[in-house]
Order: sequence, then C-alpha cells, then structure tokens
Amino acid sequence: KKNDVPLPEVNIGMVGHVDHGKTTLVAALSGVWTDRHSEELKRGISIRLGYADTTFRRCPEDGEYTVERVCPKHNVETEILRTVSFVDSPGHETLMATMLSGAALMDGAVLVIAANEKCPRPQTKEHLMALNIIGVDKIVIAQNKIEIVSKERVLENYREIQEFIKGTVAEDAPIIPISAQQRVNIDVLIEAIEERIPTPERDLKSPPLLLVARSFDVNKPGTSPEKLVGGVLGGSLARGKIRVGDEIEVRPGIKDDRGNWNPVTSEVTSIMASGKNVEEATPGGLVGISTRLDPRLTKSDALSGNVLGHPDKLPDTLMDFTMEVKLLEKVVGTEEEIVVEKIKMNEPLMLSVGTATTLGVVTSARDDVIEVKLKRPVCAEEGWNVAVSRRIGSRWRLIGAGTIK
Ligand code: GDP
Ligand code: MG
Repeated sequence: KKNDVPLPEVNIGMVGHVDHGKTTLVAALSGVWTDRHSEELKRGISIRLGYADTTFRRCPEDGEYTVERVCPKHNVETEILRTVSFVDSPGHETLMATMLSGAALMDGAVLVIAANEKCPRPQTKEHLMALNIIGVDKIVIAQNKIEIVSKERVLENYREIQEFIKGTVAEDAPIIPISAQQRVNIDVLIEAIEERIPTPERDLKSPPLLLVARSFDVNKPGTSPEKLVGGVLGGSLARGKIRVGDEIEVRPGIKDDRGNWNPVTSEVTSIMASGKNVEEATPGGLVGISTRLDPRLTKSDALSGNVLGHPDKLPDTLMDFTMEVKLLEKVVGTEEEIVVEKIKMNEPLMLSVGTATTLGVVTSARDDVIEVKLKRPVCAEEGWNVAVSRRIGSRWRLIGAGTIK
C-alpha cells in the first residue's frame, strides 16, 4: 500500500530549443526516457510527443524536494506531494506543429534554456511565443548545463534570460540554474514547479472532452483476428470524466468516399493512466483509452487531433470558421527579423486548434476578423485559441493568435 502513488493531476510541458536538455531533464525528474522511438533516437530529437509521469515528494526531516521514495540523506520515507505528467516537446524548428498540439494539453511549462548558448535561440523564442498564444502562463525557467560553463557565463546568461523574458508571459517566471545531466539543483526546480504551476481547478461536471494527441494499433503484426484488440487513443481530458464501459464518439472522425467527415462511435474497454489500469479518467495526466474501434482506424496517429467524448455531447465539426486574429509584429523562430504582413485573401494558413493541425484557406479578411475554409475539419467551439502560422520560405512560421468566434 505504501507504494501506491496518486495519478497525475497536472500536465507540464517541457519546452525550449533543440539540444538544450528537455529530454534529459524529463529523465532526471522521472527516470523515464521519453525519446522512445528508434527513429527519434537515430535523429536525436523527440519527433513525437513523449510523456512521463513522476511523483514529487518532500523529505520530512529537512523539507527538501525530491522524486526519491527514500531520502538518501536521512534514510526516511519521503512524503508524497502530487504526481505530474511531463509532456516533452520536440525543439527542432520543423516540428512546431507537434509542439503546438502538445501545448494544448499543458497546464504550465518548464522552459529549458542552456547556459552555454546565447539567449534567446530561435526556438526558445518560438516556444515562448507559442505558450503565449495558447495561453500557458504558468512558467518556470530551467537554466541548464551550468556545470560546463564558467560562473561568469552563468551570470551573463542569467541576465540574457531576464532581458529576453521582459514583457512576455514568462516575465515573472523564476529562473533556476540546474544541470539536468549531473542532477544539480533538481530539488530547487521541483520546489519552483510546486509553487508556480499549481493544479488547476477542474470541471468534472460537464460532459467529457478529451483532446486526442496520439492514436495507435497495439496489435503485433500477424495477430489472429480473434485475438485483435481495439484501437487505442491517447490524450488528456480538458474537462469531465470518462469511465470504462462509456459509449464514446470521436470527432471529426473519418472521411467517407463522398468526402464527408463522419464521427466514429465505440465503447471504452479499458483506461490506462500512469501505466495502470483505472476505472475512470479525470483531467490532468495523459491517458490511453482502449476502445472497440477497428485498430486500422487508430493506427499511426490517424485520429490524433480529434476530440473524444460522449455521443452528441461534443463540439461541432467545423469545415470553416471565423476568428479574431492578433498578429505578431515580427515573425518568431527565424534568425533574421521578418515583419508580419497582413493576412490576405486566398492565403493558406496552418492552424493549430486544440491538438489538431489543419490547413485553412482565407475566404475573408477584414482587419482582424479572418474567415477560413479548412482542408480538414476540426472540432472546436467559440473561444478556443488558434495558433496561426504562415509559410515563409520553406517553413511554417508562427505569425499570430486567433480566437474562434
Ligand atoms: P533536447 O533536444 O532539449 O531534448 O535535449 P537533450 O535532453 O536530448 O540533450 C541534448 C544534449 O545535451 C545531450 O547530449 C545531453 O546529454 C546534453 N545535456 C542535457 N543536459 C545537460 C546538462 O545539464 N549538462 C551537460 N553537460 N549536458 C547536458
Ligand atoms: Mg528531446
């Protein structure tokens, strides 16, 4: 019984420039390596969102924060504070869409900045702007790799960070110098996370809404038909509860031969949270929902970006929408400074809505009110944030924040 830890109650994003130490820090905090796919290991970046759960604890003797069950200094059992789910992000610039869909699940974020490089690097800026646009304002900054630079450089970099965060959502964020690799100051970082990223109030009464970030076919190739298990959807509940046995609907679902999108319905056969089978899923933490869906429908993330909930209780499927857009002054994520031009008629935009990424073509552009027709529909409702990106050169660049009207 003593080994029972609570389920995760809050999602914390790990964001920052490539190679600054996000995955190493997730490992330091949880012992789980999120770069679990062979291709990622080959390329050394987290292509897909990885996530890892960890339980924060405190030593009853000296009050030090830790993830250890037993305090190594006092040899006493530590007290459980709460379990958090870390959502690792790819820091590579081509993978902003993945970062943005992950940001939709974040209640707060740790922005990792390596002390051995000048701050800000392009994706440091881009990720902070993305948090800004999506409305993630509970932020802790981890100044990483402090053990490989001089004390002077640590201080100089600290000032660069202070300058960089002025006037942003991270303005008041604490900056904690750490070494993820050498496990230095991890206790102070945990303390800052505990103080700055509280578990938000959850709406458990409304019908459930789960943002689907991943979908899988868990069957090994060649499994005989009678042994096949149904499709699995992974994501996080924005509100409400999902229970084993619930009838569910997944929207927008799949496209038929005539080009119409139809929701799929099924039943929840089991729920996995933090590596355990549970009867009920609640907001906070990433969960895997096993269903009776044909696994061909869920394989290779085919349903990521969908929403899952009870039948007829989900937001509408939108083939087009109107949004109010606030453009940034300058494009972020590029080394050179590029001014953001007004949005034009017929222009293609990349839109991130919840965990969905879709292409929209502008059908009306009046000042800051923009109408778009979508290539692939999204399920969303009034008031949701939209991250708006434009193709500049060979890449999609974040240019503004929209709100669905
Ligand atoms: P990510 O791209 O932000 O996920 O970065 P990784 O966690 O993959 O780390 C990139 C490289 O930096 C790896 O070689 C790590 O071993 C190294 N690294 C991460 N944290 C530290 C640290 O605190 N000190 C040093 N010296 N190297 C680190
Ligand atoms: Mg990584």
